[in-house]
Amino acid sequence: MRMSKNGMVTKIHTRIRTEPFTANYELVGRELGRGKFAVVKKCIEKATGKEHAAKFLRKRRKGEDCRMDIINEIAVLESAKANPYVVALHEVYETSSEIILVLECAAGGEIFNQCVADNDEAFTEKDVIRLARQILTGVSCLHRNNVVHLDLKPQNILLTSAKPLGDIRIVDFGLSRRMDKVTEVREIVGTPDYVAPEILNYEPLSTATDMWSIGVLTYVMLTGESPFLGDDKQETFLNISQVNVDYSQDVFEGVSSLAVDFIKSLLLKNPRKRATAEECLKHPWLNSLPHPHSHPHPHLHTRPASSLDEPETSQSESEPESPAPSPELDLIDSYLTYPGQGELKTGRDAFSFGEPPFPTRPEIPQELIC
Ligand code: ADP
Ligand code: MG
Repeated sequence: MRMSKNGMVTKIHTRIRTEPFTANYELVGRELGRGKFAVVKKCIEKATGKEHAAKFLRKRRKGEDCRMDIINEIAVLESAKANPYVVALHEVYETSSEIILVLECAAGGEIFNQCVADNDEAFTEKDVIRLARQILTGVSCLHRNNVVHLDLKPQNILLTSAKPLGDIRIVDFGLSRRMDKVTEVREIVGTPDYVAPEILNYEPLSTATDMWSIGVLTYVMLTGESPFLGDDKQETFLNISQVNVDYSQDVFEGVSSLAVDFIKSLLLKNPRKRATAEECLKHPWLNSLPHPHSHPHPHLHTRPASSLDEPETSQSESEPESPAPSPELDLIDSYLTYPGQGELKTGRDAFSFGEPPFPTRPEIPQELIC
């Protein structure tokens, strides 16, 4: 596996198909969602009649060729095949302007919808415990394999079904990176209210950066409020760097103190002090209920029962309009350091695709082991 300078993976195994996507799929229904550079639509595979989600990614963004970013996203998805909580990648198509990822369809939509819903639609603490266990199981598998997601937020955590509440699928690996021992990634990436202090300070990113986001995510799932959100970006960033969090009874009415304790173990400024995904899974809050839907053997190459063939739920028909894409921080310069070689500061596109800036290291097994 080749590494570009900033932790991107540039080699994939999936065959990129060049025949027209519409030869094999029929688009159905409304858009499932959209982000800054992608539109996701439901489609049916003609040969099998199976439902999928097609993510259409523009190769040129703001006049820049971003094909390599998409290849990195594909590489991470294909290497996470064994991870039951990462959305499955079925096929990839390429046209002159786009790359289309054919993904497992997560028909229950974003957990975002329930996070901001009124009381009767909102998650109960019991729901959050089950979903948080799944998120952590998925993320701990990524982290064990040195993959960081870097954009964990309620818009990127989907559900296999909304009613009844299904299982989670982590999506959107557009910003994710491999953090091998020799690489150090520093980038300004992410979504304002979910970014960790080290991102704002341009300090090295690590698996702990995701753990901060999981702290924010859990806070939002339990309270419906975003802990650092200010009136503008400036205020949000100040709140983050001061770790200005409201843990008062007002916000956490009806939520257990174990849950608050769990969040506190993640929203710590020093990344080294934050709980890891493995440690989180051992936290008493997540072990205060039996876990009927947990996945006891994530290393087995199976998916939880409720995934692909799930019948349409009425919920997915009445999905609200897709939320406006959240403002993302611009990717600016990133740089990588090799121990003993000092810092190499470069623009992120200084090296062309397929040419590692450093001698190629031994191949790392492609597939993640959970
Ligand atoms: P972006 O990189 O542009 O944010 P995402 O991968 O996050 O793109 O997709 C945008 C939105 O599309 C998601 O927030 C979600 O609402 C929807 N979506 C993405 N993947 C799927 C999927 N596999 N099944 C159902 N909906 C999806
Ligand atoms: Mg997204």
